[in-house]
Amino acid sequence: MKTIEAWQNLQSAQRMVIKVGTSTLTYKTGKLNLSAMERLVRQLADIKNQGREVLLVTSAAVGAGMGRLNIKEKPNTISDRQALAAIGQGILMHIYEKLFGEYGVVVAQVLLTKDDVADRQRYLNARTTVRQIMAFGAVPIINENDTVAFDQIQIGDNDTLSAMVSGLVDAELLVILSDVDGLFSNDPRESSQATLIPLVEDITPEIEALAGGTGSKFGSGGMKTKIAAARIAVSQGIPMVLTNGSGDRSLSFLHKNIKSDAVDTPPHGTLFLPKPSFLGNRKGWLAFSTRPAGAVLVDAGASKAIADKGKSLLPSGILAVEGTFGRGEVVDITCCSETFARGIVNYSSGDIERIKGKHSSEVECILGFGHEQEVIHRNNLSLWK
Ligand code: GLU
Repeated sequence: MKTIEAWQNLQSAQRMVIKVGTSTLTYKTGKLNLSAMERLVRQLADIKNQGREVLLVTSAAVGAGMGRLNIKEKPNTISDRQALAAIGQGILMHIYEKLFGEYGVVVAQVLLTKDDVADRQRYLNARTTVRQIMAFGAVPIINENDTVAFDQIQIGDNDTLSAMVSGLVDAELLVILSDVDGLFSNDPRESSQATLIPLVEDITPEIEALAGGTGSKFGSGGMKTKIAAARIAVSQGIPMVLTNGSGDRSLSFLHKNIKSDAVDTPPHGTLFLPKPSFLGNRKGWLAFSTRPAGAVLVDAGASKAIADKGKSLLPSGILAVEGTFGRGEVVDITCCSETFARGIVNYSSGDIERIKGKHSSEVECILGFGHEQEVIHRNNLSLWK
């Protein structure tokens, strides 16, 4: 697909998630960049005026807390960061409320943790609520609930959160506004030869290798989490744009006439195209929002059957089990130390230990019961790549 055409197709998106990072929202002093916030809110209000739905995923709660307390370095202790997030989140919302209010736009704060999206019931509940906020005509402003999230209940970075949220609300577009212009062929800070890649049709290992370790001292992202977010978005059929959030026209590609503005120059940013065959909402949730309770290690034959032929996981292909889990829980599927899929098991870890490597016809005899032939049915299995 032509690059310009691919960018132009984005203009029909009706529901979009816009993520903005701490580096865009704060100055190097740690204080909030109010001009950047104003420019962002103005553009979002304008998009809303066009009749579209916008969700904002915002970082900078910790950064705003640090700025307010004049703390220059991000603290290492979790409790310090959590306390700063509690201080900063209120400051952030106060400013967003004020700025959006100037354009007559109502906002709603939504704070999520990994637990809220990992559990299917809670995921669906969050989905209904966020959709209702949009039905009320308000803009959901989403952040991780940093004050209570730690370790396993932490999503960890807002790039990933924004990609999860895009799946949650069936967004048609995810835009990540950052302090970089997009994905480059080399690190632009190190090489003057670095060129911006305007279109990524497939996130290959070569593309992943381009993700160096950028990031600011106030936020937690970097190019790595942006590529990870792109993978989550495109696997769910959602295009993702990575572009610089500092200007007042960073979202203008959504409405300007790209062709007449610059004949062969696409907008300044990187567009990651959705996969031609992508996961539906439930399988997207399973692949990217759940928290695995363990893993099953499979042999190369089973891996090929699952990944290439769309088969279920049978006991015969299982080599080993990791962790303790019950029937109905979510586990990773791993081959040669690489996790390539995730699914919901029909048997507990103890039962799988006993039936691994056996033919499905032997299961009932070994266990004294047989729920299903498959350890993970295809309908309950999502491939990662
Ligand atoms: N949730 C964090 C905050 O509001 C930001 C995480 C990130 O930078 O990705 O400070």
